[in-house]
Amino acid sequence: MMTSRSFDTAKMAIDRLSTQRTDSAWLEAQQKAPGARFMVLADLSPVIRSNEARTNAALAWFSPEQIAGFRLPVSEALFLGRDKSTGDNLFAICVPEHMARLAPGGAENLRPIVDLRSLAIQGVMPPNDMMLAGEARSLWSWHLNARHCGHCGGTTNVKDGGWKRKCWACGQEWFPRTDPVVIMLISDGARCLLAHEKQFNDNVYSTLAGFVEHGETIEDAVRREVMEEVAIEVGDVAYVASQPWPFPHSLMIGCVGKALSSDITIDPSEIETARWFSREEAAAMLAGDHGEGLLAPGPYAIANWLLKDFINGKI
Ligand SMILES: [Zn+2]
Repeated sequence: MMTSRSFDTAKMAIDRLSTQRTDSAWLEAQQKAPGARFMVLADLSPVIRSNEARTNAALAWFSPEQIAGFRLPVSEALFLGRDKSTGDNLFAICVPEHMARLAPGGAENLRPIVDLRSLAIQGVMPPNDMMLAGEARSLWSWHLNARHCGHCGGTTNVKDGGWKRKCWACGQEWFPRTDPVVIMLISDGARCLLAHEKQFNDNVYSTLAGFVEHGETIEDAVRREVMEEVAIEVGDVAYVASQPWPFPHSLMIGCVGKALSSDITIDPSEIETARWFSREEAAAMLAGDHGEGLLAPGPYAIANWLLKDFINGKI
């Protein structure tokens, strides 16, 4: 079932150095060393470089000297990991948009700032850059909501290059949270079930998805979500692939589920319409030539990969 995909994290080209990053002296030395490179996120969006036509984009990386020149807070940089090919240590500095705009030289160098979701949809940035920007965005999203201790209300301080916060008052440690989301292609063997949700663009149909709840297995989450949203009973469930989704800090767990019933009853609070599609129809949606003008999510989304596997008869 497992196949190589563009977002396969096994290909991730960094070493997170999770043992070393707990050493604050080591981390501080790395931030000042020549091999340190910093990306800048302003209001959660990365500073990028692109060609004039904006058909190719890449993350902008800055040296410690450049970051010092912008007077951005190096000491608060998140440690992303070490680039396995260059040996460079990669950091992310996340600031409010106005801080980047008003930084010395910021108006010239800390632009353009582009929303990561737009970059994903446009498909203009290499997968490795998307992954690094996603890592920084999701980690910083967590920090923005973890400044106070959930136990005593005290202020929490950043530790381990951003991979922990610790309450100064009660000592409670807090770790970045990831929200597991199941996303599932439900098939009866010949057809797959896709739904149109209110927040989707017109004519876009996608796989069902939902958060995994406490005390629930991935398999049960798939069965429950499908029953809640379209009232289809699901039997066997299998894992296919996963995708980090930094909006704000989810992990999409791609599954395939076997439908045991076929009559759809939608939950109108979540779904606008849902229906069954043949492999031919699904292929036409991906190709953009479906007879009714229906579309599927683009290659940035794990739903696209699940659909391709279904069309190719792999699931
Ligand atoms: Zn506390």
